[in-house]
Amino acid sequence: MLLTLPMGPLGANCYLWENGTDAAAVDPSDAEAVQSVLKEKNLRLTDVFLTHRHFDHLAGAAKLRQETGCAVWIHPLDADGLKSARASHADRMPGTFVPCEPTALYEDGDTVEAAGLRLSVLHTPGHTAGGVTLVSDAEGLAFTGDTVFFEGVGRTDLATGNMRALMESLSRILKLPEDTVLYPGHGEPTTVAHESAFNPMLHYRGHSWFN
Ligand SMILES: [Zn+2]
Ligand SMILES: [Zn+2]
Repeated sequence: MLLTLPMGPLGANCYLWENGTDAAAVDPSDAEAVQSVLKEKNLRLTDVFLTHRHFDHLAGAAKLRQETGCAVWIHPLDADGLKSARASHADRMPGTFVPCEPTALYEDGDTVEAAGLRLSVLHTPGHTAGGVTLVSDAEGLAFTGDTVFFEGVGRTDLATGNMRALMESLSRILKLPEDTVLYPGHGEPTTVAHESAFNPMLHYRGHSWFN
């Protein structure tokens, strides 16, 4: 079962997948908020999957790792964000950033599994260099982080951002089956079919980005 938990100062979506006993969290920015759900439902957190390096997605990872012993996954090109307030942009926010070593790294083509959910890793850079999209074929869903939003895409003006890479990543995500539900890092879920029809970036200068 999938739970959506908006959290943190920027209201980033944390997604919790649970099978009744175990749970995996995608982008937990607030450890306490995740822990209260784990306790309420009596779940054991086994894995934290991070879509990218920004604090509004990973700020809770260190504490969850300390408290539960869960694995913490990130792409190697974004691993600095776990270790440094500067690389995660946490230094722009009030509060203390707790650094964390990634316990595991995933790259394009890898498959990870937790709480009965098997996810394939697509490297989808552009918003950050090590951004990933995590795809479950069986559930027909993908966690897109800040790469694709409902009728939008992530900004590319922050460190390691790259517009051309982002457009290539968008194109790659939209090659998933069209009924795939996309769960973004902020805002409402969408689908491949909806973004293929309505994402404004696809209509920017025609389709020239894909030529
Ligand atoms: Zn971001
Ligand atoms: Zn974000």
